[in-house]
Amino acid sequence: MYNLKSMKAEEFISHDEIMESLEYADANKDNVELIDSIIEKAKLRKGLDHREASVLLACDIPEKIAEIYNLAEQIKKDFYGNRIVMFAPLYLSNYCVNGCVYCPYHMKNKNIPRKKLNQEEVAREVAALQDMGHKRLAIEAGEDPVNNPIEYILECIDTIYGIKHKNGAIRRVNVNIAATTVENYKKLKDAGIGTYILFQETYHRESYEKLHPTGPKHDYAYHTEAMDRAMEGGIDDVGLGVLFGLELYRYEYCALLMHAEHLEAVHGVGPHTISVPRIKKADDIDPSAFDNSISDEIFCKIAALIRVAVPYTGMIISTRETESVREEIIRLGVSQISGGSRTSVGGYAEAERPHDTEQFDVSDQRTLDEVVNWLMRAGYIPSFCTACYREGRTGDRFMSLCKSGQILNCCHPNALMTLSEYLMDYASKDTRAVGEKLIENELDKIPNEKVLSICRDNLKKIEDGSRDFRF
Ligand code: SAM
Repeated sequence: MYNLKSMKAEEFISHDEIMESLEYADANKDNVELIDSIIEKAKLRKGLDHREASVLLACDIPEKIAEIYNLAEQIKKDFYGNRIVMFAPLYLSNYCVNGCVYCPYHMKNKNIPRKKLNQEEVAREVAALQDMGHKRLAIEAGEDPVNNPIEYILECIDTIYGIKHKNGAIRRVNVNIAATTVENYKKLKDAGIGTYILFQETYHRESYEKLHPTGPKHDYAYHTEAMDRAMEGGIDDVGLGVLFGLELYRYEYCALLMHAEHLEAVHGVGPHTISVPRIKKADDIDPSAFDNSISDEIFCKIAALIRVAVPYTGMIISTRETESVREEIIRLGVSQISGGSRTSVGGYAEAERPHDTEQFDVSDQRTLDEVVNWLMRAGYIPSFCTACYREGRTGDRFMSLCKSGQILNCCHPNALMTLSEYLMDYASKDTRAVGEKLIENELDKIPNEKVLSICRDNLKKIEDGSRDFRF
């Protein structure tokens, strides 16, 4: 039985409720009156529930889709402006005891060399990432209680935060590791992590069990209830995600929203981010072996409808996607992207991109400088800001910043100041020239005179060598 507030996976992600919602969506996909009323509700920018949003996803009336896309673009502008937060993944270890059939790190893959960074290697990777200009990382590891126990992850986090390299430091470490216990989530919280990210892969229980035939990840309920344990452990920024291609996208979209509604209902705060990865080719993985792959068009529709249904939730797109898909999807609602990523263990310290331990093929292989340059030419502000979490603005406190309309006096100047640091320390000559012009133009958008004046002062100080200013 469906129960939003239940702590049992099968009740808050009720299969029956999803099937009924999809039936309702099918029955109403041409019901223009209802669709219009849902779009009107979405315009209030308070989100949609999973049933309403599923109707819009099922709808294929071109004019209505165009309206939804315009609204998504507008909501994105209102909530996130033209800022795009930059990050990079850091692969710590590809040892894994699970049997995930879409992932090359699965235990039975004897092809792939197994590698785990020691602390000197972590430091080398972090120095290489800092030399590119990164300030925010997402650490990634396979699940292996012997090779990658929580103590190892904690030691790595400690190492990462401890490195001061030239003008740089990693200021926010997000963590993407397997579902774990409340006690371990508490330890991650105490280690000062940013967001805890865990992809559901698929919400469809039967498929989930087939796709994860062996290992601890086989346990659907334990995996699906992980975010509740994370929040119980004190982590209030959690990141959801579905691996698109495994199951029917409409099923996943509906369930993803139900998961968000559940977190909001139980913990008073919804997910901080939603990621939208699609299956990619990798060592012994062939994406065409999965039946449910989605076109770029549907992919963009999903992104637009995530933006419309959960306006306060950031959306992340990785380098799994090509430059052209990234361009379109950023416009429709993505707020965070990775750049210059390497998905192999120890990949950043190598001069050439290594492929032997890669988790998936990277489609967007441009350098961070190229991505930053491209974003700015398209009118975006690449932001290296990590202020919210360092100021304690996590969970619902971040949401209230959004809701209070103070973004332009806070996030906007922070983005400009961190971009300026990037331009001074890491950018190519051309990127720096483009960026300096952009910053000058964007300063005009800061409404509060006092904030504007402090921001101008700080930009001058950054030019003179000082670093790390924030509102
Ligand atoms: N091991 C952790 C877990 O079980 O959640 C998380 C880390 S894993 C390195 C990160 C994510 O990569 C997975 O959750 C999965 O969605 C994604 N992934 C795995 N194989 C992939 C593939 N072939 N293409 C694209 N993404 C993939």
